[in-house]
Amino acid sequence: MTSARVDDRSFVARFGEYPRTLDCVHCGLCLPKCPTHVLTGREADSPRGRIHLMRGWAERRYELSESALDRIDRCLACRACESVCPSGIRMGEMAESFRHEMNRAGRPSGLSASRAGRFLLDRVLPYRERIALLTDLLAAYQRSGLRGPVDRLLSRLAPGLAPALALTPDVPSRHIRRVETERTRPDGWRAEGERCARVALFLGCIAAEWYAPVHRATIRVLTANGCDVVVPDAQTCCGALDRHAGRLDEAERLVRRNLAAFAAVGVDAVVVNAAGCGASLREPLGTVPSGTPPVLDVCAFLHELGMRDPRRSLARRVAYDSPCHLLHAQRVGKSVVEELLRRVPGLELLPLRDEDHCCGAGGVYNLLRPDVADEVLRAKVEAIRETGADTVATGNPGCAMQITKGLRETGIEVVHPVELLDEAYANGPTG
Ligand code: SF4
Ligand code: SF4
Repeated sequence: MTSARVDDRSFVARFGEYPRTLDCVHCGLCLPKCPTHVLTGREADSPRGRIHLMRGWAERRYELSESALDRIDRCLACRACESVCPSGIRMGEMAESFRHEMNRAGRPSGLSASRAGRFLLDRVLPYRERIALLTDLLAAYQRSGLRGPVDRLLSRLAPGLAPALALTPDVPSRHIRRVETERTRPDGWRAEGERCARVALFLGCIAAEWYAPVHRATIRVLTANGCDVVVPDAQTCCGALDRHAGRLDEAERLVRRNLAAFAAVGVDAVVVNAAGCGASLREPLGTVPSGTPPVLDVCAFLHELGMRDPRRSLARRVAYDSPCHLLHAQRVGKSVVEELLRRVPGLELLPLRDEDHCCGAGGVYNLLRPDVADEVLRAKVEAIRETGADTVATGNPGCAMQITKGLRETGIEVVHPVELLDEAYANGPTG
C-alpha cells in the first residue's frame, strides 16, 4: 500500500464523492466505446477494469503493481465511458484525482513523470510570450527547407521525438499568429448589424499561436453574427494538460486566472473554439467566483444565439468528427454542429461511422503513447476514408493535428467547423 499522506484532492479522499463509481454494475455497456478495450479486449484496459483496480487500491485491499498502474494509465481520458454508463461514472475526474495521488506517492506518469514534461507545464505553457518565441524559431526552421531531412535525422537519433515531429503542423506566418489582445486592440472587434452580445475569445496556449487562423475565423464569424468580441490579455493556458497529469493545484490556479481575466472585461459569455480547453474551463476544480461569465464552445454558442444564414456556397463534401471533450465532457452533440454546417449552401454533409469514437489524440497522449494512439487513429482514418469526404471538420486542435497526421497524403483537408462557416460568410450573412 502506498503510504503517501492524502490531501483533499486525492483519489482516496475523494473516493466517497464517487458513489456512482461504487455502483458500477459491470453491465459492459462501456466496453465497445472504450478505445483501449476495443484494441486489446482485456478487462484491465476497460473502464470497469480500471475502476476495479482504482477502487481496490483506494479501499486498501491491494498494492498496484507497475503493470496494473500502466493499464490504468493507458486511459486516454476520452470519457466515452461516461456518456454510456447507466451508473453515471466520472472517469475523467477519477483519473485526474488518481494521478494527483500517484504524483504525491512518488509514482508520477505522463507529463508529470519527466523533467521535460514538468518544464513544459511550468515554464512554457502558461507564458504566451515564450510560446510565441518558440513558435518563431519553429517557423524559421520550417521555412528553411531543412525540415524533411532534419526531421528524419532527429527521429533516428532521438526516437522519442518522432511522434512530436510527425504531429507538428506548419505554423502560420507571424502576422497571422499574433492575434491582437485588449492591450493592442482595446476596443476589440465590432459586431456587424444589430448587436446581440459582447463576448470574450479564449486563445489557449499553443493554440494561440499555431491555430491563430482558427481564432481569426472565429472572430469574423462572431462579428458576422452580431457579437462584439474582445480578447483579454490576462488570459492564460486552460490547465487541461496539468489536469491530465494529475497536477490539480496548478490547473486550478490557471483556471482561476482565466476566470478572473474574463470577469474583468464584462462580457455575456466566454467563447472557446478548442474542445479540450472548453471542458477544462467549464469544469473548474474549485468554486466559481460570482460574476464569472458562462463559458461556451463556439458552435454551441452560435447554435444558442440563432446563427445568421451564410450567403456563399461551398462545394465541399464534409464529414464531421466529434472531439471527445466536446461530446462526452461538454455534452455538445454532433447535431448541434451539423445543424450549423447544414446552413451553408452547397455544403454536403456526409455521415461518419463511429464519429463518437476517439481519434487517439487525448491531450498529449499521442506523444506519450504513440503506439496506442496510432492504433486508435487507424480506425478513425478508415472510417473517414469510407465517407468519400474531401474535408473533415473537428473542433479541437489536438484532434485536428492527430487526424491530419492520419490523413497525410490523402488530400483530405482537416478544418475547424468555424473555418467552414467563415468561408461561407465571405460575402456576409443573408439576414
Ligand atoms: S457502463 Fe458503467 S456500470 Fe456498466 S460496466 Fe461500464 S462503468 Fe460499469
Ligand atoms: S476515458 Fe476513454 S479510454 Fe479511459 S476508460 Fe473511459 S472510454 Fe476507456
